[in-house]
Amino acid sequence: MPNAQPPASHFIDGRYVEDTAGAPIDCTYAATGEVIARLHAATPAIVEQALASATRAKAEWAAMTGTQRGRILRRAADILRERNHDLSVLETLDTGKPYSETSVADATSGADALEYFGGLAGSLTGEHIQLGDDWVYTIREPLGLCVGIGAWNYPTQIACWKGAPALACGNTMVFKPSETTPLSALKVAEILTEAGAPSGVYNVVQGMGDVGAALVSDPRVAKVSLTGSVPTGRKIYAAAAADMKHVTMELGGKSPLVIFADADIEDAVSGAILGNFYSTGQVCSNGTRVFVERTIREAFVARLVERLKGVVMGDPLDPATTYGPMVSERQLKIVEGFIAKGIEEGATLAHGGKRVDRPGFFLEPTVFTAVTDSMTIATDEIFGPVLSVLDFDTEDEVLARANDTPFGLAAGVFTKDLARAHRMVKGFEAGTCYINSYNLAPVEAPFGGMKLSGVGRENSKLAINHYSQMKSVYVGMGPVEAPF
Ligand code: NDP
Repeated sequence: MPNAQPPASHFIDGRYVEDTAGAPIDCTYAATGEVIARLHAATPAIVEQALASATRAKAEWAAMTGTQRGRILRRAADILRERNHDLSVLETLDTGKPYSETSVADATSGADALEYFGGLAGSLTGEHIQLGDDWVYTIREPLGLCVGIGAWNYPTQIACWKGAPALACGNTMVFKPSETTPLSALKVAEILTEAGAPSGVYNVVQGMGDVGAALVSDPRVAKVSLTGSVPTGRKIYAAAAADMKHVTMELGGKSPLVIFADADIEDAVSGAILGNFYSTGQVCSNGTRVFVERTIREAFVARLVERLKGVVMGDPLDPATTYGPMVSERQLKIVEGFIAKGIEEGATLAHGGKRVDRPGFFLEPTVFTAVTDSMTIATDEIFGPVLSVLDFDTEDEVLARANDTPFGLAAGVFTKDLARAHRMVKGFEAGTCYINSYNLAPVEAPFGGMKLSGVGRENSKLAINHYSQMKSVYVGMGPVEAPF
């Protein structure tokens, strides 16, 4: 049995901290169901320690130059890359995702964020605005103490995507990972400290929703960034409103992937696989409503099912494995419930659909055809390896149906007709769009949702505006005129 026990549950003020009075959190390896680490939820005393430490660290961190802060973030990026193997093994143990994925998509993506925002840190500025003889200058200031709250699907990446821009702008952070995947964020905190981040700049506390809620409602907190579900987003947004805290919300989706008859079928099938089965389907931006032009539907489904037979399911630590278990028994049961609903409501099960008879939380990659827009599997976010194929006939029709959802995280189109591709993208009500590709999320590009899928953007230069605020200074150069 692998042992992934960290030195302690929390990382506060530059060191590991334990308080066994907190409720136990058992970390389960999804491939076997075995408990591989036991941690404890933060008690009120631990939450206070973390908030006090991050508050104390604010002045020292903000007083450093951007270049100095950036150097520390870039050093942390280098350490993440040097230890990519060990961190990827840990991420696999934390989530169950196969090493073939974690070794290229988790610590490496976290390192990209630290490197990118570390690089930007020295060039963050305000501006000068000349107004005749008078002038205005603006000062870009940090927000202060930021809270990050993460989901369980990309624990290392989320810890870095929130931490890197926050720290680059001179903020400090208290990060709470999902209780399902408590391990990886501790390593990020440890590495940032090793790279030179002063004590208290980046802290990690464990816990369930109540710990998150305690962090969000604390008046010392200036901003909250959540990656999670819409219901949790609503609660956190409402709690943050009491003090007018800044928020970034990266929430769920039910994204459309539209495949026209002129598309390269092999590429379109690859896009549908990346958009439905990577990370065993546990990706917020997945294109789970696959609209296929009726004339190619049969050929598309036949090729998709053939390719899915090539899935290598097994020990996630074996580099040859390409498809791992769901993160937890609970998530598996939720997804099985959706599959049963799809069958009950009349969709055709074209592939998979069953739990795999082996230890752990394995579920076959699943494809439904004959799905209609109002079926539950086409309206609700499933967050698992379930792809729905919907037929369409015309561009106008498919665009209207693609947008007929309260979500707006992502959308994709496969076609060789470039004008049509850009028309579709212009029409999509989604924050992150793809043409002849799917689910890539480079740090250089903004990532986030419209409608119920979120507020604000992560990554790219835009993230800087979500972790800093402008002070505007009017400088009078002449006599002061007053009406009386
Ligand atoms: P949840 O929304 O259940 O939880 C997200 C985080 O919020 C967890 O750390 C959770 O703690 C915490 N939390 C729960 N309640 C509160 C509260 N009242 N106040 C503060 N914090 C709270 O999502 P999951 O972890 O189950 O992740 C899956 C969901 O996340 C999916 O619906 C998916 O769409 C979405 N997601 C969105 C992404 C995006 O970028 N848009 C990316 C990845 C996932 P705990 O769970 O430990 O109790």
